[in-house]
Amino acid sequence: MQPSRFNIISRLNDSLDFFVVNLLSGQADLLSEEEVAFLERDFEKAPTEFFEKGYLADPGKEMQQYRLRYIDFIEKRDQEEVQVFFVPTYQCNFACSYCYQSEYPAPPENLSPEMVDAFFSFMETRLRGRKKYITLFGGEPFLSGKSYKASLAYFFEKCAENSLEVAVVTNGYHLDQYFDLLSKVKVREIQVTLDGPEHLHDHRRPWKGGLPSFKKIVENIDQCLSLGYIVNLRAVIDRENMHELPALARFAIEKGWTGLPNFKTQLGRNYELHYCQDARNRLYSRVELYQELYRLIKDHPEILEFHKPAFSVAKFLSENGSLPDPLFDSCPACKSEWALDYSGRVYSCTATVGKPGEELGTFFPEMKLNETAISAWQERDTLHIDKCAECSFQLACGGGCGSVAKNQYGHLLAPDCRPVKELLEMGLDLYFGK
Ligand code: SF4
Ligand code: SF4
Repeated sequence: MQPSRFNIISRLNDSLDFFVVNLLSGQADLLSEEEVAFLERDFEKAPTEFFEKGYLADPGKEMQQYRLRYIDFIEKRDQEEVQVFFVPTYQCNFACSYCYQSEYPAPPENLSPEMVDAFFSFMETRLRGRKKYITLFGGEPFLSGKSYKASLAYFFEKCAENSLEVAVVTNGYHLDQYFDLLSKVKVREIQVTLDGPEHLHDHRRPWKGGLPSFKKIVENIDQCLSLGYIVNLRAVIDRENMHELPALARFAIEKGWTGLPNFKTQLGRNYELHYCQDARNRLYSRVELYQELYRLIKDHPEILEFHKPAFSVAKFLSENGSLPDPLFDSCPACKSEWALDYSGRVYSCTATVGKPGEELGTFFPEMKLNETAISAWQERDTLHIDKCAECSFQLACGGGCGSVAKNQYGHLLAPDCRPVKELLEMGLDLYFGK
């Protein structure tokens, strides 16, 4: 018997307690220092419970269980619903200070009906037999302008005709001009971004030309919520606005949004994806962002009413009383995610869409896909990345983001490490600490 390869053992932040989390056996416990010694040195003296819970295991049997769980994972993943992003334009009416798409080419064409038809035929042929839904993405998918809106109207008609649900990622400014189109389809959710209270949001996410956007977006969020649409409010966080997160949380609480069943939130880390940003020194690394967030939550617990961060699997454990299934792959690209744009090109996901050189083929004017490049994305998981296959955090991390790994190492079978241990130290303290 040996300590499991998948034990994650550390100490809760700001506490004397230790923890062990094991994603393969699905067990987690708070431990004393003495109990940790059973897992690190004094195996013979360990209580039988530690064997039963898989913290101490026979390596051969554990590998067998690992392989079975992997097969399970792949089978489930192949049945997952597919999210297909569609970019009707790369243009945007905002001039956000950190936009990673600001350097992507954006010719000012509208969608042709032939191209829209070809998109739906891609959905039918390539993704035949899979459950799927569409997410409109940009640029900004909800621009003003009659001819642009008319070209999108046909797209919505086709979604309705094919009974496909639609989600939208929008800056929220012209949402009110699109309620008529939205009413024609089943809407999955509407994601809108607010980057802080009014003054800060308007500084970071102005209209092109510098006009403010906050008030109009807030009105549109109110309207969406009262129409029953699920609003997913996203805040993109960096060093410039982190300190105002408590103010944004209080704003949402005072508006009554946080008490509504159709309101949810997400925090996005502002990070350098493909292009160098002007103000690189305002970016957080992943661990820095969560460390700052952890400190801020300790001082302003009302943030949790607005948004409860995952801190790896800590939130899941606190809400479900059990661990999630082992995560052999955290990158859905070309598996349960695709991204297509109005130029007829096919990409792996939102991180690569529109980036020259990342095309995986075309769906219009003809369907022509680079199957070798697609297979490379589909093959990526923790078993196929050498460093991940050896890593004790792999079943919580899943190997990270393929696009980030490729940018860093020049190929896909490379890791994009998540600070799993540090996240658990903070998250388990926040959600389970005394
Ligand atoms: S490459 Fe990154 S952004 Fe794209 S699907 Fe994978 S994890 Fe998500
Ligand atoms: S990406 Fe890094 S942390 Fe994640 S499983 Fe691979 S080696 Fe481990």
